[in-house]
Amino acid sequence: PAPAPRPHRIAVIPGDGIGKEVMPEALRALDAVQRKFGVPLELVPIDWASCDHYAKTGEMMPPDWKNQLSGMDAILFGAVGWPATVPDHVSLWGSLLKFRREFDQYINLRPVRLFDGVPCPLAGRKPGDIDFLVVRENTEGEYTNLGGVMYAGTEREIVLQETVMSRHGTDRVLKFAFEQAAARPRQKLDVATKSNGIAISMPWWDGRADAMHANYPQIAVEKHHIDILCARFVLQPQRFDVVVASNLFGDILSDLGPACTGTIGLAPSANLNPERAFPSLFEPVHGSAPDIYGQGIANPVAMVWSAALMLQFLGEQAAHDAMLAAIEQVLAQGPRTRDLGGQASTAEMGAAIAERI
Ligand code: ATP
Ligand code: MG
Repeated sequence: PAPAPRPHRIAVIPGDGIGKEVMPEALRALDAVQRKFGVPLELVPIDWASCDHYAKTGEMMPPDWKNQLSGMDAILFGAVGWPATVPDHVSLWGSLLKFRREFDQYINLRPVRLFDGVPCPLAGRKPGDIDFLVVRENTEGEYTNLGGVMYAGTEREIVLQETVMSRHGTDRVLKFAFEQAAARPRQKLDVATKSNGIAISMPWWDGRADAMHANYPQIAVEKHHIDILCARFVLQPQRFDVVVASNLFGDILSDLGPACTGTIGLAPSANLNPERAFPSLFEPVHGSAPDIYGQGIANPVAMVWSAALMLQFLGEQAAHDAMLAAIEQVLAQGPRTRDLGGQASTAEMGAAIAERI
């Protein structure tokens, strides 16, 4: 007999607040696909990268955190942050942002999709009208610490903040986006820019997009200035399939996109190192939601969908598809949590998804 495949090693980090409530529902769904498809998973529970750990030790993570996680194939993450006891910048910079930087997770990927059974804030939209991916550059661009204030405190005060875009960093995100577009039926890529106003970096970004396009002549490319692109997300969401953007523009689009499809409780995200030199991280877009923690009413879909994205990234397409289909059915038929207008608890909705799988 063929040797059993090496299991995917997954670090499971529930984190804080409702992260601790939705993670068990993702594990329930993973258990179901494990049994149905024989997906080999080795789940490694981790209780640090949380404000509870901070309360005990004075730090978010143990000193050897990188060592502990380096051998993992992926990190499944709930949410981090408990502002009542730990300031958000301490919890965030002490955990997630360290992963992003040290594991070179240079792609932030957010699928945006409108489901049957979910009220859409955009009038007249139906499922199928909204189904696209936002690909955000995650490591450079407008988010730097380069710059400073001159003549501080005087009438002559001037502030400078640099943008840094490298050819390496830009080309790799563009390449990833073209690959995503090439793998989807519509063969279309939309590029966010602002070359009419940001006169150095953005024309250069457009030029890199053109250069990469030469490798993918079959893909239709459209460039949009970020202002009109935001308007089109709202007015014409059906025209998008894959959208690629720099760090700042991608940050804006990747919140606007999910906002166009109903509750924040549905939106998943992936922080990817596509070459798999380091573990990639999968987490819901929502935070720890202290306002609803402890009531068992958090929507588990964003967490379950994030786990599905993880399996897709690890090559388990059938398991991903089964999880998505189960989510789709439960959203359409219930049970639904309160943010969707239902009465179900987190566990009831999670159990229904696992049952469908
Ligand atoms: P971040 O931690 O990303 O800065 P935040 O703390 O500002 O985000 P969230 O924790 O995402 O915000 O919560 C924003 C609002 O959305 C809260 O009112 C919260 O209760 C609600 N919310 C977030 N996630 C869910 C969920 N899974 N189900 C239902 N409601 C949610
Ligand atoms: Mg928060």
